[in-house]
Amino acid sequence: GVAFLRPAEDVFAQYDENLAARNERRAEYVAQRSEPAITRDGVRIRLDMNAGLLLDMPHLEDSGAEGIGLFRTELQFMVQPEFPDVRTQIEIYSRILDEAGDKPVLFRTLDIGGDKILPYQDGPLEREENPAMGWRAIRVGLDRPALLRTQLRALLYAASGRHLGVMFPMVAEVPELRAARRILDLEIERLARRNVAPPARLEVGIMLEVPALFWQLENLLPLVDFVSIGSNDLIQFLFAADRSSPRLSERYDVMAPGFLRLLRTLVEACGEAGVQVSLCGEMAGRPLDAMALVGVGLRALSVAPSAVG
Ligand code: PEP
Ligand code: MG
Repeated sequence: GVAFLRPAEDVFAQYDENLAARNERRAEYVAQRSEPAITRDGVRIRLDMNAGLLLDMPHLEDSGAEGIGLFRTELQFMVQPEFPDVRTQIEIYSRILDEAGDKPVLFRTLDIGGDKILPYQDGPLEREENPAMGWRAIRVGLDRPALLRTQLRALLYAASGRHLGVMFPMVAEVPELRAARRILDLEIERLARRNVAPPARLEVGIMLEVPALFWQLENLLPLVDFVSIGSNDLIQFLFAADRSSPRLSERYDVMAPGFLRLLRTLVEACGEAGVQVSLCGEMAGRPLDAMALVGVGLRALSVAPSAVG
């Protein structure tokens, strides 16, 4: 953020104006919250919310979201003083599922590494030049399988007898998904040996963030229940434009025809394969961008709670 020391009158006025506009928009959202998300020509859009902390959970009810389309589990790890053991993780995930009630939650497995090194975690031995494309997410999980295994075990225990959605981030090749799925299956078998009920319904998917995966859909789609498009990362890799660089904001174009064309093809391929597809990047929460997403065929979006209503 920016701090103004002894702000001038016009700065005050500008901020007051911004605040008033924001409150007006919020009031508009609140007034429309109970309206179903249906376009004028009758197309139903599913609206889920993104979350990452227990603190976010009350928004599930007050925003009117249908579920949690992206739960960023690493945020929960970042606020712990040490690596949470399986028991602690079971507790956390159980509370999230308790709070979600009947609404489904898609848990993303840890997206740590790169520039999201936990203070208590071993990082790569040397500083990486491109951490966003470095040792992160599923790459860490597969190279340190105990980590992924513990997390999947905790998720399965927490979701015993209820719905569980698991998605793997930054998958670049189908064999990575197969390897992650194998770890999940081993944990499901372990659960059965201990006579713990499996989830009542298990959905497994991936986040499409690495463009290379787009050319592997034929092999990928038969293996997943859903695809969640992580447009924040996908766009930065498609256009080689750092998502957090203000200088590149003009080049990080969510409306670029090439990107929208890719989305349309992806949505069609998922439709033909009977695989659910949604988009959970920040663009889904901006009204104009969301309209473009609906235009290319998306029917499910997951957005920040404040963008739902
Ligand atoms: C994304 O990349 O679009 C995404 C939702 O994941 P994150 O923003 O956590 O990288
Ligand atoms: Mg991402």
